[in-house]
Amino acid sequence: MRSFTYYDLIEAFAQTGCAVCRLALQDARRYLDSLLYEYSTDPEAHRLMRSGRGLCNWHSWQLTEIAGGALSAAVLFRSALLEVREVAAESESGRRTAERLAPRSLCPACQALAEREQLCAETFAKHLNEPTFEAAWRASEGLCLPHLRLILPALSQANAARLLDHQRTVWARLQAELEAFQRSFQAEHSAEPLSQAAAASWRRCIALLTGERGVFGTARP
Ligand SMILES: [Zn+2]
Ligand SMILES: [Zn+2]
Repeated sequence: MRSFTYYDLIEAFAQTGCAVCRLALQDARRYLDSLLYEYSTDPEAHRLMRSGRGLCNWHSWQLTEIAGGALSAAVLFRSALLEVREVAAESESGRRTAERLAPRSLCPACQALAEREQLCAETFAKHLNEPTFEAAWRASEGLCLPHLRLILPALSQANAARLLDHQRTVWARLQAELEAFQRSFQAEHSAEPLSQAAAASWRRCIALLTGERGVFGTARP
């Protein structure tokens, strides 16, 4: 049985960056879209907004970038504000009030993201050396370090070695590109044509070592 994550990963391997980051970000974005467009009057969504005092910092700001979402965002965050006002209505010690104001639930967008990561780890464990899957990940730009570390423990020793083998190739290539990028700043090399990959290598290095922007946000499970 091949899950939808299996097919999504194969598609994502062909694109730039870490495939797990890509799918996780897609799911978080999908959650935010559905929150604004379908669930802004849903009681469960409002309960989560109250208990979480909004979404996490990353995802709350991401909401503001979704076109046409202002009214829904206002409706949802009004609930969070009501909750905060209710919780803070009584005067207690500063410490006690601070405790009571703490979020009581995880950010649901972060949770959507983390669930997809788990599905990816399971898919790697199940299909790593299946020929179609293997050809796809071997052609990919590799995994970011946090996702590599998430997936490795789920693999047999032999499969972990195969995955690492590809990752080492990716890292070596990136290092060469970073060094070409650095050389381009030195006067005697500045006439050398710089490849597109090398010009973008420093940003790709950040993504490959820390994950894509917004994947490892502030309120992760
Ligand atoms: Zn990643
Ligand atoms: Zn979040």
